Amino acid sequence: MRTIGVLGIQGAIEEHVRMVQSLGHEALWVKDEETLNRVEGLILPGGESTSMGKQLEWFHLLSPLRRKITESKLPVFGTCAGMILLAKDIENSDQLRIGAMDIKVRRNAYGSQINSFVTDIDVKGIDHQVPAVFIRAPRIECASPEVETLAVYEGHPIFVRQGHMWAASFHPELTDSADIHALFIQSI
Ligand code: GLN
Repeated sequence: MRTIGVLGIQGAIEEHVRMVQSLGHEALWVKDEETLNRVEGLILPGGESTSMGKQLEWFHLLSPLRRKITESKLPVFGTCAGMILLAKDIENSDQLRIGAMDIKVRRNAYGSQINSFVTDIDVKGIDHQVPAVFIRAPRIECASPEVETLAVYEGHPIFVRQGHMWAASFHPELTDSADIHALFIQSI
């Protein structure tokens, strides 16, 4: 059993907690450095990345998080807004972020809230299709060669991995399938 943190600032927190628990692991809401130091892996949920970035700064969590991820190599999985927080480069914003992954993203590139959609995708490492929910999702515009593509949609990577850092454009926690979470947690 692993202890997996879910950044508990804003967004789809409880849904990730339930996914982690459904796989038999312990899930902790991470809102302070003490809890951050207890987890073996961390999920950055979807929500609103500008708000999360600002609140991370107010709660004095932005630098500790960056250190944990870049220096201590804490396994991390950013979904949707969480992926934006992880990206080094955001094409259409200069917002506060963790900035650890060698990807360039474009916020809201799949349209606004009313353009939200669900689609079944093929994922490297999973032998059946899994559902992916896109809500004001960011698109990965480019990635460095160290970034492995695990799933593609309409010619763009939507699920990627750079060593201990994972990111998805979509929300895997808003579905019935815990396969994507299992893939991340198995890597820890
Ligand atoms: N559009 C949001 C942002 O830019 C992300 C949306 C989401 O996480 N579903 O932060």
